[in-house]
Amino acid sequence: MYTPDPKPGHGPRIIPRSEHTVSRVDVSNSALKVLYRLKNSGYSAYLVGGAVRDLLLGIHPKDFDIVTDAHPQQVRKLFGNCRLIGRRFRLAHVRFGREIIEVATFRGTSDGADDREHSDSGRILRDNVYGSLDEDIWRRDFTVNALYYNVADFSVVDYTTGLEDMRSRTLRMIGDPDTRYREDPVRMLRVLRFAAKLGFDIAPETAGPIARLREYVGDVPPARLFEEVLKLFQAGHAVRSFQLLDEFGLLGQLFPATNALLEGAGGGAVRRFIELGLGGTDRRVAEDKPITPAFLFAILLWPAVSRSAAALKASGASDYEAMAEASAGIAAQQQHRTALPKRFGVPMKEIFGLQRRFDNRRGARAARLMQHRQFRAAYDFLLLRSRCGEVEMELADWWTHVQTLTTEEREQAFSPSKRRRGKRRRGGRRGGARKRLSADASGS
Ligand code: ATP
Ligand code: MG
Repeated sequence: MYTPDPKPGHGPRIIPRSEHTVSRVDVSNSALKVLYRLKNSGYSAYLVGGAVRDLLLGIHPKDFDIVTDAHPQQVRKLFGNCRLIGRRFRLAHVRFGREIIEVATFRGTSDGADDREHSDSGRILRDNVYGSLDEDIWRRDFTVNALYYNVADFSVVDYTTGLEDMRSRTLRMIGDPDTRYREDPVRMLRVLRFAAKLGFDIAPETAGPIARLREYVGDVPPARLFEEVLKLFQAGHAVRSFQLLDEFGLLGQLFPATNALLEGAGGGAVRRFIELGLGGTDRRVAEDKPITPAFLFAILLWPAVSRSAAALKASGASDYEAMAEASAGIAAQQQHRTALPKRFGVPMKEIFGLQRRFDNRRGARAARLMQHRQFRAAYDFLLLRSRCGEVEMELADWWTHVQTLTTEEREQAFSPSKRRRGKRRRGGRRGGARKRLSADASGS
């Protein structure tokens, strides 16, 4: 009998086409083309990872990963539209229009092989040892990610407890969790990401070591952590990702300044702000509206930026200087953890810088704000702040209203003369009151 044990040494369970729900109809044509060409050229070819997992769950896969016994150079020879990428893991990318199919060669397990390199903490720096399917399994992270769909007979191959864990909705590390997290600390983020995305539980022995090993996330290059942050927060489950990162103590590894505030006295308000912001991001993803890392990082860093700006103001900086210096400072600090490419960092700082300009509703400068290329994002951010009680609802409503006006009406709305008239009126009233007072004093 087959005993479930996600460790090497067991024969595979092969589930024939008639007994599973993975259907070619749901596989992209490009992925099918790659699978068939590999097979027809005499290589083995499997769909693997998230695609098989998601198809079994009835979710449309984000992408289709393929694994084969053909070496990268051999894959390249088969496809004109193919590029080899990666140093740590050498992979082939086969391009079909905008779709890229990733083709990996089975990874080997043979220890002491010369094309694998570890850091002092056990992190794998380079891994280009090729092997066979039954070796490749043990290099995968979680059992539900280690199911293979064989294009030769349409069966699903399960060497671990993948199918059982699918049924009980459990994320379970293959092999010894401690070692596997040390090899690649990003696996700690991945397990939380899959828990957020799929709503699966994390097996106790898989969750256990995270509290002890979380500091290792700090050894991962910032560029890779940036990519992982996007996967955590831009795939429609940002709120849940945030909560799990917080719960498992990993938020501090990614956003140290934000985490420090969450742990401090005003933590509740910071958490509300971020969850409200991320909730908006999740809604946009669900509605297929565009999202940008600039806005995402604005949500995640604003509490720290506004805190820092307030401190700078208290020590004498102007509003403008305080915001500029605070956003530059927090962004620079963040770069040590996750990269934040300029094309997102610059608009994020603009979103911050524009906030203070919403206070001014009159004159040419206020009108020009609507022409700014970050106006829309900055306005959305203003709405978020107003929902959290950071700015008057009335101010946000005014900017909402002014966008619905015709050009002429808009000129009226921004007209500086109104403001002057208003001032005169107030002055007039004050004058009137004074007059009345003196009249009272005179006893008439
Ligand atoms: P999704 O594409 O939905 O984000 P996925 O499971 O396909 O999820 P990918 O990052 O596309 O995740 O990776 C494909 C597969 O490669 C995974 O399912 C897993 O088997 C393997 N894999 C990816 N990253 C790692 C890793 N850091 N350690 C071990 N195995 C990994
Ligand atoms: Mg994938």
